[in-house]
Amino acid sequence: MATILDGKSLAAKLKEEIKAEVSLLKSGGTEPKLAVILVGDDPASHVYVRNKKRDCEDVGILSESITLPANTEKCELIDIIKSLNNDASVHGILVQLPLPHGLDGTEITQLIAPEKDVDAFSYYNVGRIMTGDYSFVPCTPAGCMELIKLSGISVEGKNCVVIGRSNIVGKPMAMLLMQANGTVTVCHSRTKNLAEITRGADILVSAIGKAGFVTGDMVKDGAVVIDVGINRGEDGKLCGDCDFDSCAAKASFITPVPGGVGPMTRVMLLKNTVNAAKVQGGKENA
Ligand code: NAD
Repeated sequence: MATILDGKSLAAKLKEEIKAEVSLLKSGGTEPKLAVILVGDDPASHVYVRNKKRDCEDVGILSESITLPANTEKCELIDIIKSLNNDASVHGILVQLPLPHGLDGTEITQLIAPEKDVDAFSYYNVGRIMTGDYSFVPCTPAGCMELIKLSGISVEGKNCVVIGRSNIVGKPMAMLLMQANGTVTVCHSRTKNLAEITRGADILVSAIGKAGFVTGDMVKDGAVVIDVGINRGEDGKLCGDCDFDSCAAKASFITPVPGGVGPMTRVMLLKNTVNAAKVQGGKENA
């Protein structure tokens, strides 16, 4: 039976470390600050933004939520981002996605100054991840890597299989595993013989968005299973992409959903904001 990778307690520990870093920054005259822009009425987005605000408060990061109506004009949003880019007291900027119809999330996130782009979605930061010379990593893959590292799991030389090729999870996850010297295969909706490939994985990362998609027969004995998916099961409860019981019976380590990758993702935003403040710190006093 697999050991459960407890993202919730690891994240709580990391939060304490971040809190200490924030105090240190404050005593040096830099007050780390995150600005979050929320456009429209998507209920899930409102919950995510509230959680981000609470996480910031927990560690002493200042946060500003800018809430705009769904009919906000593109030029208005651009003006707000530009003014935050020029505001030296703001170190991190995030636009909560998805944006309402008529606003293109990819286009809008490109307007955030790269040094304040704490989600790391801008082409500049994506490019830096490709080269291995980066300051920010998108929060979910960063959280997965931190979970793997803090659990004492080595990636070097391992066969790593990532299911999912999205720009915010699958692709950067594959890059990070490769940079950690894993041998990486990326699978997606058009992959043939998926189970044959996943059965070769020492580390299997699933980022699909389909409840119970990965079953124990797709998992190698002793594999590490990282379940990024967040879905609602037939019983209405939150669950991952992996059928927990059958996968846990085969794996050596497995992340639960909830309580695995999710809390680590949240804490990585705080880490990215603190890193941004470290780089920009002092400029507000210049
Ligand atoms: P996405 O929809 O952008 O990408 C899904 C990927 O799954 C695609 O690349 C697609 O090719 C692949 N896929 C779909 N069907 C497949 C199949 N039958 N076989 C193989 N591959 C298949 O989603 P995303 O934004 O990458 O998110 C993936 C999941 O992770 C979602 O459940 C999302 O809610 C969750 N998520 C969790 C966190 C977290 O903090 N835990 C953060 C971001 C996303």
